Amino acid sequence: MEQSKHLSGMLPEELEALALRLGEKPYRGRQLFEQIHARLAGSLDDVTVLPGAFRKRLADEGFSAHGLSISQVLESTDTTIKMGLSTVDGLVVESVLIPMETGAFTQCMSSQAGCALACEFCMTGTLGWTRNLTAAEIVDQHLLALARFPDRPVKNLVFMGMGEPLLNVDEVVKAIRLLQHEKARSLSPRRITVSTAGIVPGIRRLGQEVDCQLAVSLNAPTQELRAELMPVSRRYPLDELMAALKEFPLLPRRRITFEYVLLPGVNDSPAHARDLVRLLSHIRCKVNLIPFNPFPGSRFGRPSDESVDRFLELLSAKQMMATIRRSRGADILAACGQLAGKKG
Ligand code: SF4
Repeated sequence: MEQSKHLSGMLPEELEALALRLGEKPYRGRQLFEQIHARLAGSLDDVTVLPGAFRKRLADEGFSAHGLSISQVLESTDTTIKMGLSTVDGLVVESVLIPMETGAFTQCMSSQAGCALACEFCMTGTLGWTRNLTAAEIVDQHLLALARFPDRPVKNLVFMGMGEPLLNVDEVVKAIRLLQHEKARSLSPRRITVSTAGIVPGIRRLGQEVDCQLAVSLNAPTQELRAELMPVSRRYPLDELMAALKEFPLLPRRRITFEYVLLPGVNDSPAHARDLVRLLSHIRCKVNLIPFNPFPGSRFGRPSDESVDRFLELLSAKQMMATIRRSRGADILAACGQLAGKKG
């Protein structure tokens, strides 16, 4: 798998340089960019604005429009769609379209095949890590979804699928630049959220290199409990994480989102809620409470609605902005922490 051979992962200036190298005018590269990103060309054959000889030259050199192809589509009873997408080296990554109350869709994007971080509550983490996805393979999740489901207005992208985006920060940053490009999808920075388990150097780089929203998978208000649930916290302890978050460039009216998976009897007591309020009191933020979705082999159960509501009330009583995110698509294993690249 050669990343440079997938044109969807190349910026306009890279495509201009490629066109020039192959004996064409640079504007042919810009045309190629627009056809792939704005007009959702599925293959080089679809890019009929380009001379046939140029397309043939690209194909002869091993270039293709995309790095992924759709291998499976599952639709949940609640209209959530889970796509299985194949890489050219035979891996399957997953991306999910989630219906929002507004009628628009949010797309959950994967950044790696598998994940190395082994969070206790996550099915993806049980599989281990295979490799980072390329910028083309990240962008393609969105482009292929738009082409396949033209009636689904995908308004938001969240990097919450398979993998830890900030352990693949080069390709994730490039993919975000591609998706935000005015001649491509022109996605607003407010509509792209990168969710991290707390990779401190990656948070710093993300803040410096690209404009997007940041979410942090927190799940515990103390270092001791967090290290138990998320082994990554031993490498990047809570105090270092909070220090990096306080420095993260936040535009006015933006907030960092903290995700907190509620695990019954583990992190959902009133004392945990109080500790959480204390921990986050100096950060402009909101908290997403996510009732745990059990998956085969997980050691946690599902919290009761009453305990979830009680936790929310305790946060709200302290003026902490908080919501409950009830996961969609649980019947097709498309809910949070259930993406595992498995068929069926
Ligand atoms: S929750 Fe995220 S970071 Fe943790 S194992 Fe799952 S995919 Fe990896």
